[in-house]
Amino acid sequence: MTILVKIADLDLSGKRVLVREDYNVPIKDGEIEDDTRIYASLLTLNKILDTGAKVMIMSHLGRPKEGEFDEAFSLAPIAKCLSSLLDRKVPLVKDWLDEIDMENREIVLCENVRFETGEIANEDELARKMAALCNVYVNDAFATAHRVQASTHGVAKYAPVSAAGPLLITELKTLSRALKDPAKPMVAVVGGSKVSSKLTILESLSKKVDQLIVGGGIANTFLKAAGYNVGKSLYEEGLVEKAKKIMAAAKESGGEIPLPVDVVCAKEFSAHADASIKGIENIEDDDMILDVGPETIARFTDILGQAQTIVWNGPLGVFEFDRFSAGTRALAESIAISDAFSIAGGGDTLSAITKFGVSNKISYISTGGGAFLEFLGGKKLPAVAILEESARAWAAMERGREY
Ligand code: AMP
Repeated sequence: MTILVKIADLDLSGKRVLVREDYNVPIKDGEIEDDTRIYASLLTLNKILDTGAKVMIMSHLGRPKEGEFDEAFSLAPIAKCLSSLLDRKVPLVKDWLDEIDMENREIVLCENVRFETGEIANEDELARKMAALCNVYVNDAFATAHRVQASTHGVAKYAPVSAAGPLLITELKTLSRALKDPAKPMVAVVGGSKVSSKLTILESLSKKVDQLIVGGGIANTFLKAAGYNVGKSLYEEGLVEKAKKIMAAAKESGGEIPLPVDVVCAKEFSAHADASIKGIENIEDDDMILDVGPETIARFTDILGQAQTIVWNGPLGVFEFDRFSAGTRALAESIAISDAFSIAGGGDTLSAITKFGVSNKISYISTGGGAFLEFLGGKKLPAVAILEESARAWAAMERGREY
């Protein structure tokens, strides 16, 4: 059983509370395209503010170069969005590691943690500086719980008390419950760009679920492994052998991975490229596979129609371009009309769910991408493991106080 310190266990009144959220949201031309993650954090922030604490929020955004400020990765749009959602000013603090001067019930957003040297490498010096800002550290960022970084892991070692936020706890509870004894058949759809970023989960899910469906660039690597020409499509040569093994293992356990039989191709990677539907055996050397075709959609829809539990992460194609979005749209709509218990997670998956208007028809939407996949694969999330360690230390200290 997971033991974590919750914010309700603590007296936060007047305390400096450093909260890690995941506000790594899609932003275009300074506008937030999907605020699901920001919206999901409001409950936590309001709960902590109500106690009379001083609230400092940390988050990362994108992959800026460490040690440098870069306007393109500033959290300014997030501060604006939070101010509007909370109906109060949420200032963005640039040099937050120096010191943050605050009154009780005030809330600030610290600038992108990835501008700080040592964040990604989980350097002790940075983790200690973060911890020195607060009396209590609260990790509420399920979506980054698979990362061993200063703001998700190191800081929890050095903060006086490290707790799990409500959003993190809800994610852990709901996903554990849903996956403990899932209704069968269970179908997992794993799409997106690369096998390499989802290899562990592909391996573990192929053993766990009754049917694994692969899509996007991942499917291209599997198609290559099955001997098809994929032309100029995105695929990973170095993972072709792994893909062969995963396919063989899935076949052996009775759930052959269904590969696309037809696809939507283009000669260039562009929203306006001419799209043509081709049988998978007719791909030319200068073709790029950017979506699945209608016959494949029909086959996948049929499999999803029989499922009792559906787990989904990653698009079936380049859904951001309307001409190549039909596969992901059909997938979202099949899940939406299905009676199965459905769980979806991941940044791009959330954007697709919003784009195709099926948000309220998915049983549970996780804010996590990589963390969601690692959790599904049965891995212990490092940010949760360190919170458990802190909880044990905290419980021992509390017991000591009772004497
Ligand atoms: P991921 O972050 O791995 O879930 O990948 C999501 C991204 O994969 C989206 O931005 C999609 O546009 C992209 N994607 C999906 N299918 C393809 C494809 N066939 N070729 C290139 N990119 C793809």
